[in-house]
Formats: sequence, C-alpha cells, structure tokens
Amino acid sequence: MNKQLDTIIIGGGLSGLTVGHKLLHNSPDHRFLILEKENRTGGAIQSHHDQGFITETGPHGFLDNCLESRQILTETGLDGETVKAPLIDFVRYVYLNSRLNLIPQTPAKILMAPLIPLRAKFRILGDLFKAPLEGEPTVAKWINHRFGPALLPFVDAIYTGTYAGDYDKLTIDSVMPGIRSLEKEYGSVIRGLLKKRRKKNTSSEKKRKFRMPAMTSFATGMHRLPEKLTEQLSPGKNLLLNAEVTSIEKKESSWQIASSKGYFTATNLVIALPVNPALQLLKLIDPELPQRSIPQARIASVVFGFNQGETLPPGFGYLTPECENRFTLGSLFSSNMFPGRAPKNHIVFETLVGGRRHPEKLELSDKILTEEAFKDVREILNLPNDPAYTTVLRSKWGIPQLERNYPDLLKWRDALTLHHRDMHICGFGWEGIGLNDMMKSGSQVAESILSSSRPSTEDTAVKGVYF
Ligand SMILES: Cc1cc2nc3c(=O)[nH]c(=O)nc-3n(C[C@H](O)[C@H](O)[C@H](O)COP(=O)(O)OP(=O)(O)OC[C@H]3O[C@@H](n4cnc5c(N)ncnc54)[C@H](O)[C@@H]3O)c2cc1C
Repeated sequence: MNKQLDTIIIGGGLSGLTVGHKLLHNSPDHRFLILEKENRTGGAIQSHHDQGFITETGPHGFLDNCLESRQILTETGLDGETVKAPLIDFVRYVYLNSRLNLIPQTPAKILMAPLIPLRAKFRILGDLFKAPLEGEPTVAKWINHRFGPALLPFVDAIYTGTYAGDYDKLTIDSVMPGIRSLEKEYGSVIRGLLKKRRKKNTSSEKKRKFRMPAMTSFATGMHRLPEKLTEQLSPGKNLLLNAEVTSIEKKESSWQIASSKGYFTATNLVIALPVNPALQLLKLIDPELPQRSIPQARIASVVFGFNQGETLPPGFGYLTPECENRFTLGSLFSSNMFPGRAPKNHIVFETLVGGRRHPEKLELSDKILTEEAFKDVREILNLPNDPAYTTVLRSKWGIPQLERNYPDLLKWRDALTLHHRDMHICGFGWEGIGLNDMMKSGSQVAESILSSSRPSTEDTAVKGVYF
C-alpha cells in the first residue's frame, strides 16, 4: 500500500486513538491511517478477566473532571457504560508509623487533620518567606525547603501512586510546572494561590460550584475505552495492526513513513507514542536530540481474591511511603471501587510492587513475588486467611519519569514541531502521564490538524492534587 493520506498517526494507544476519533468525528472525509506495532490497540490499557475477577494490568481509571475526556465519552456513547467511584465517598489511606492513616481528600483538609503536629503546620507557612530554589530541585528537596519535612511522607505517597516514582529524582519543574511558576512569580506558593483565587473571584468569569471528581471506569474494565474507539475504525482503511514504524522522513511537502507493513506518505504526521519510542523515531529527523531516552518505572500488580469472611477497609486503597520500608508500594481495593470486579461474595484487591526505586523486585518469579507481597499485605490489612485467588500482572509499559533535564527535552520538542509545522507529537509522558492528559492532548492535536494551526500555548495550569 502506498497512497497519499492526509494524516498518518503512529501508535494505536489511547493518544493515537483519540486523534483518530476526533478526526473521524469532526471531519469524516479526512483520510487518516493509524499504524500500530502490536496486534491490538490500547497500548498500556489492558484489562484482565479471569475466574470472575476483573483486574487491570495498566490504568484503573481516570477522574471525570476533564472536558475533553467527557466529550469523547459523549461522542462515542460510552457515557452510558461508565462506572464511577466519587472521591467524596471513597477515602484513601497512607501507611505511616506502622498503621493505616485515613487521609482527607484535599491538601487543605490534610493540613487541618491531626496527622501533622501543630509546630509542623506553622512551618508550612514558612513558604511565605522562603526564596525560590535555583535550578531544577527534586520534588523532595523543594517540598522540604518550602514547607518543611512533615509533608514529605504524604508527597512521597502521591508520587508513588501516580508515577511509581522516586521523589528524590522527579523534579518539581517537570511534575508541577504550574505550582513552580506560581512560586517564581509570587515568591511563595501560598501567596500565589491566594492571589489567583482573588483574581478569579473578582473577574467576570462565572463562579462554578466546586465538585469533587469521581474515578471512572467501565463495567468490563478500562479496556472498553480503546475497544470502543477502535470499533469506529475500518481495519485496513484507517487502522493497520502489526505495523511497526521503522523510519520517518520529510520529503518536500509530505512525510514518508516506512513500516513493517510497507511505505506510506501523508501531509501530516502524528507521533502518538510514549517519550522513549518517540525519541527513537525523532532522532532520524534531528540527530542532535538532547537526550536519547528518559528513565521509566515499571510495576507489577499482585492480585488477591478472597471469599466470604474477609473484609477490606472502606475506600480506594492505601499507599506506603518509602520510609516505612515495606515490600509493596500500596494496594487498590478494586471490589470496593467498582461493581462486578469479583464473583459474588468475594473481594479483590491489587497490590503494586516495583516502581522506580525497586526494579529488582520485578525480577522475582511470580511465586516469590506473590508470597512476599502477601506477607506484607497480610500484616497491613490484618488478613487471617489465605487468598482464594492470586495472579501476577506485569505491565510491559514503563511509566515515563520526568526527572532532570526533562523541561529542556520539552523545549527541544516544541522547537522541532515549530520547524515542522505538519508534525505533531503527543503521548505518554509528553503532556503529562494520565489518561485525561492523553485525551486532552490528542484532541488538541486533531483540532490543530483540522484548523491548520498549532495548539495554543495556554498558561501552565495548576492541577488539583487528589489523594
Ligand atoms: C502500570 C500503569 C498504570 C497506570 N495507571 C493509570 C491510572 O490509573 N490512571 C491514569 O490516568 N493513567 C494511568 N496510567 C497511564 C496511562 O496508561 C497512559 O497515560 C496511557 O495509556 C498512554 O497512552 P498512549 O497512547 O500515549 O501510549 P501507549 O499506551 O504506550 O500507546 C502507544 C502505542 O504505540 C505503539 N507503538 C510503539 N512504538 C511503535 C512504532 N514504532 N510503530 C507503531 N506503533 C508503535 C505501542 O504498541 C502502543 O500500542 C498507567 C500506566 C501504566 C503503565
């Protein structure tokens, strides 16, 4: 096959599928083709059905507070298939000082809770007087400098739960650019947040009532999202599986793509890939790229199912900061979160192991991993009986780690796409790491292709932190 297309999309994960969906929905005559290396779409999203248990190798859900994601659900009719766990009803815990501590849902409520001693609460106000740290401080160093050490275990838990990362390596400029720019502009995060809030209150912007978002998935698991987006495509016409792209080249006004399924040419090119596979292709058009790869964190999920008799604490689950020195990173109480995750009269939870700090644990056999993880969670959750069901799910996808020099990589990417205005880059690790980030940036890419403009550079948004 070698025909001139309007757009070629490399990657059939959520990012590439979002771009394809938006092109199809907003301009049905637009000729596009998604090239996907594997024999299935969905990338990191992979649900696991076994003996009546529904668990996830990759993502478990996304918050319903992103406009672009809600639009996609409405446009595909998936909004009628969602299952939701509202954050307001589902608590989380941090395992600290050898016990589970219930965590209030917002940073303000965390501060008010008796978990943090009064002296340490006053130290948090030190933020008002501390000069911004120079350079690219790590998250741990920056939090300690601005707010003092009392918040460190909670912040560690947040970055374990989102990046499976190490907050001594992740940098604040990369993972919280919005908060960092408030600090630089106003000299203090607290002052910056208050000024922003005051500005908002006095502006003509209509005040919307704040609502805590809900964690969202689907009755049969997260795989339903890529499955539905794929159902709308015509295989062979706008989707090719087992088609690994091996090279990209710009020739006059079109992109020439070589893949394991042949050569293709298109006016626009979308690289909808995680940072590392994207860099493999991008180095072909700019050998001067600032980094060949970024670190990734892989995790395994050890699933435990119990029959009648065992109970879980109410809520989503818990996370364990590194200072507690546990074998596991935390557990998700899957059968509490969404209905139908376990057979009748059973419960199921998924325990996470590995991450940026402990890749060596992923080398263990399934048997040892299960035994060690169970020893750990048995103590934490006080489980008297052995599980009725166990399995180990190993994601081959790593979570991109936004560490030192990552902002420079983004600057290089922006300069490259400014030079090649018909090339767009989105995907895992480029504009965030969550499913909502992928649906947002994929939607923006499709919009800019159809309007022949670059996505607008909005202010670096300050994202909410939900425990
Ligand atoms: C273990 C784990 C847990 C997660 N949990 C959550 C969560 O709970 N909530 C949340 O919001 N997010 C979570 N995420 C993040 C979420 O999964 C990602 O944001 C999202 O799936 C990334 O989608 P993507 O399409 O950008 O990348 P991918 O899913 O990586 O898709 C990229 C696709 O490109 C294909 N490809 C690669 N190279 C080539 C090539 N050369 N040619 C053709 N095709 C190629 C791959 O096969 C793949 O299908 C998790 C991720 C992981 C790994």
